[in-house]
Order: sequence, then structure tokens, then C-alpha cells
Amino acid sequence: MDNETFRRHAHALVDWMADYMAGVEHYPVRARVAPGSIAAQMADAPPEQGEPFEAIFEDFREIVLPGMTHWQHPGFFAYFPANSSPPSVLAEMLTATLAAQCMLWQTSPAATELEGRMMEWLSQALALPQGFHGSIQASASEATLSALLMARERATDYASNAQGLAMSGERLAVYCSEDAHSSVEKGARVAGYGAQMVRKIPVDETRAIRPDALEAAIRRDVAAGIKPACVVACIGGTGTGGMDDVWAVAQIARSHGAFVHVDAAWAGSALILPEWRHIADGLELVDSFVFNPHKWLLTNFDCSAHYVREPEALQRTLSLVPEYLRTHGAEGITDYSNWSVPLGRRFRALKLWFVLRSYGLEGLRAILRRHIDLAARAHDALSAEPDFEITSPLRLALFTFRHRPEGLSDEALDAHNERLLAALNDTGQVYFTQTRVNGRYVIRFQVGQTNTEARHVDAALDLIRKTARTPG
Ligand SMILES: *Cc1c(COP(=O)(O)O)cnc(C)c1O
Repeated sequence: MDNETFRRHAHALVDWMADYMAGVEHYPVRARVAPGSIAAQMADAPPEQGEPFEAIFEDFREIVLPGMTHWQHPGFFAYFPANSSPPSVLAEMLTATLAAQCMLWQTSPAATELEGRMMEWLSQALALPQGFHGSIQASASEATLSALLMARERATDYASNAQGLAMSGERLAVYCSEDAHSSVEKGARVAGYGAQMVRKIPVDETRAIRPDALEAAIRRDVAAGIKPACVVACIGGTGTGGMDDVWAVAQIARSHGAFVHVDAAWAGSALILPEWRHIADGLELVDSFVFNPHKWLLTNFDCSAHYVREPEALQRTLSLVPEYLRTHGAEGITDYSNWSVPLGRRFRALKLWFVLRSYGLEGLRAILRRHIDLAARAHDALSAEPDFEITSPLRLALFTFRHRPEGLSDEALDAHNERLLAALNDTGQVYFTQTRVNGRYVIRFQVGQTNTEARHVDAALDLIRKTARTPG
């Protein structure tokens, strides 16, 4: 494609992008396609001759778009948000255009230095305790894996990296709540601890890890000659938003010499709100902390902020520098590829810079407060309905509920709410997902898409009431 053709199509695409953003709420939120139906419309083999961009873009609109779930639809109440914003999209356009590999300082000094500065800005924005050093990783799962690797090396005095965990002579255990995200167990598998060495500690009625049960589990392991290597606490669990008591967890972990990592993938963004900082009490005692600006801070995926207290330990765990990656003659530089598992790195700090400068912290606070208020509005509306049950309390902008008409058994209620969820999502106006609370099927109500307003939440509530009460 020559440059003039690129210019012409780029202008047309920007118009399409702005139209899409303006009209996204007219698409069905969740894709309405059968498995395999998109692939069936694609050619079986790559073309031998190049095709005009018009034909490619036509297929994007006709084949791809109907198979997309519209995460930026203001009726998106599913999972957690992966919200975005115009300044973030603009930055991504520039990042794609520069197409730089930002693995080392010298492979793009501005990317490295902007990343350092953005991690300092976010640390101030969230009022993190002094002494954390951050880098951007692709996902919370990667940051948690890095933390588990750091913990493994600390517990084996770096013998595991050198000889393998089996030869280090240590048996190591990892602790998290039974509600912890699957990335903790996955990381423990990948890091060589083994899934069986992950202790899933019971939670209390608020879905927070029980400190007494954590202490007891650690003591049992220590008595059996197993070393407690890592404790992962969670602020804002995936199912119902449960909040571990970081202070209590960290004190227990530290008294046994274990590394402490905090997973605040979703809820961490709320720390920009002074009135919510208490959910992170105790963070000054932890070794590692991750949250995802790509969830609830208007920044396109991927952008996960990972903070550690000892960047030297992280680099000692992950850095491996062959001659061809050495930077000669530059003192005091940071090579962020030594802070994460992959070598290659996208220029991800640019979109954060654009977002933070475009909105300012006050602008971002206003949006998050709106989401939290709207979730409370939905929560209060369903609480007031006699045939609806709130099944877990409002936490930030998330609660769970079920429809509970009289006279149905628990099993029948599960099936009823599963049908309700499917019927809601089939309307195309909203998208909700489910979880289980005390074994029962419940629907999660999460507000976090950048442009969700009161009218979207009110329309969703009307739809829920109407659909739930429609016999069938
Ligand atoms: C979303 C989420 C994750 C996973 O985040 P990725 O960035 O997709 O890896 C981990 N933990 C919690 C609590 C989450 O909500």
C-alpha cells in the first residue's frame, strides 16, 4: 500500500471510528453468532494476489463486525470493564504507527522514560505508599506470575533459577483465598510450585480471606517442612468484589518470611478516589501490587501497572542479558525487558499519558464516581423489589442479585436465573454475566464502561424487571 492510499483510507477509517463511537449503543452488545459461523465466511486459504483495501474493509464490516462483542457499549455490565476512551485510541494509533520495540532504553528512550514517569504519576494518583517502583506489563496475570517467580527465588535464595525448583531442596507453598483469580493458580503452575501447593484459604461471609485460617494453614505447612513462599491478597475479587484485609494478611505473611503480592486488577483504579483509599490499608507492608488501568481507567488493553518494592530482586529474577541485548556506555538507564517475562514491549505508556492529561485526575474521578453511584442506584432499585434478592453487597461498582419468585426450590431458582440471564443478553441491549454465591447461580451487575449513564442503567433495570416477570 503506497502512502497516498494509506492516507486516504486512514482518513476514512477515522470517520468510521468516530461514527462507531457515537453509535455503538445501537449494536447488540453481545455478538449474536453461532460458533464457526464467522470462520465459515473467511477464505480457506490466503490470497495469491493482493486485494484492494475497499474489499478488505467491506469484509470487516460485513463479516467481522457482526461477530464482535461491543465492550464499549454503555449497556455492557458483564465481567469487569475493559474500558477505553478517545485519547487512549488516539495514542494507540500513534503507537501502531511508530511500531517500536521498546524492550531496552536504547530501543526507544522516550518509551522507557515516559513509562517510568507514568508509573510515578499513577503512584501519586493512587496515593501508593512510598518506595514502590512500577512498570507496565501486558496483564495482571503476567504481573502475578512475575511476583510468584520473585517469591520462588527469594524462598530458594535464587537456587531455583539456577538449578530448578526440584534441585533447590525446598518445598514451597502459595496462599490465596478460595475466591482468588485463576491467574494465581495458573502462575503457580507455570512457576513450578504446582497447583497442589496452592492453598486456597476459606473466606468469611464478606468473601474476604480468613486471617485465622491463613495463619493455621501456614503453620501446618511449616510443621510439615514446607516453606510459605508467597501470599497473594486480593482487593476486589472477580466473582463478587471481595476485599481481603491486606494489613492482616501481610502481617501474617511477613511473620513467616513469605513474599506478599496484592491483586487489585479491577478495584485498584478506585484508589484515585480518596474516599476509597481505605480498601488498600496495609499496602505499605507488601512486596508487590498490580492493578489494570486497562480495566477501569479509560486506557485500552493492554496496560497493567505492576509495582514492586525491590526492583533489583525482580530484575535478578527475570533478567538474562546476552551480548546482543547489552547497552554499552549508558549509565543509569532502565531496560524494562528485565522487569517482565517477555522481551518485546509495546509503547504502552503513551496512552496513559494521553488519558491522564486529557481528563486530569478530577475528570477520571468524576467518571469512576458516576459508575459507583450508578451501581448503587441499580442495587437500591433491585433491593426495593420484593421478588429480587441481593446476593452479595455492593462493592465499588459491583453487586450480584437473583430473581426469586415465591415457591421455587434452589435448583429451580438456578435454572430460572440462568434463563433470565440468557433472555437479557439475547435482547442485545445489555450484557450481564453470572457467578456463584454459596453455590447458587447469581447475576453480576457491574458498571464501568466509560460512557454508561443513568439512562442506560435505568433501561437495564426496566428490562430486568420485565424479563424476569415474563412467564416462560
Ligand atoms: C481481571 C482480573 C485478573 C486478570 O487480569 P488480566 O490483566 O486479564 O490478566 C486478575 N485478577 C483479578 C482480581 C481480576 O479482576
